[in-house]
Amino acid sequence: MARKILAAGNWKMNKTPSQTKALIAEMREACKSETVDVLLCVPAICIPAAVEAAAGSNIQIGAENMYFEESGAYTGEISPEMIVDAGATYVIMGHSERRDYFGESNEDVNKKVLKALEHNLVPVMCCGESLTQREQGITMDWIRQQVKIGMIGVSAEDAVKVVIAYEPIWAIGTGKTATAEQAEEVCKGIRDLIRELYGDAVAEEIRILYGGSVNPGNAAELFAKEDIDGGLVGGASLKTSFGEIVNYNK
Ligand code: PEP
Repeated sequence: MARKILAAGNWKMNKTPSQTKALIAEMREACKSETVDVLLCVPAICIPAAVEAAAGSNIQIGAENMYFEESGAYTGEISPEMIVDAGATYVIMGHSERRDYFGESNEDVNKKVLKALEHNLVPVMCCGESLTQREQGITMDWIRQQVKIGMIGVSAEDAVKVVIAYEPIWAIGTGKTATAEQAEEVCKGIRDLIRELYGDAVAEEIRILYGGSVNPGNAAELFAKEDIDGGLVGGASLKTSFGEIVNYNK
């Protein structure tokens, strides 16, 4: 079964609810596609506006983060139930910015993956190495550890629902894209790990994205690689030209 490409945006801490409505109203047309899944992950406060603006289009809305408890005294956090109730269907976890600035650990990511699945939210689980780790030659060891811990306790039935995003930290927001070969090498390594953990069927079905300075000029080359099933896109998802990434194959 061929995997469907996923073009996923990560807006980070950008756009107000009213700006969200205006931008998605423009993007609806540009992001039309029958062959590619389209996702915009937006700030929590913008989710209701985004869901409303995307209604009836092929754009799905996701959250950028989520806490792993059901509810309670966790000031400032948002729960899976809140995300689902607001109409979002995906949630990013373990983004390198959350790991670096907010101390999110592999164990936290694992708890979030399990909790999201429990609520039928699709986890977009990020992993990626720093430039130092790449230069030390430990990229794949690092990624394998992140993915292995992130997937602890996830059944094979649930594993296929997870989206894994490989995002080398040195390529995020820097304009420095990994070459398609570098990105493919790691995405293939992740698929091989999934095969070791869950067998062929899950490995063939699970979607693995590349993220790091994806733009309309490089999307086609990256997405053409055998083990790259789309992109997690930061800066370039804040413009209507994100539609050119969605329609990379036209
Ligand atoms: C990201 O936020 O996940 C990302 C890859 O950002 P950018 O595309 O701007 O490098």
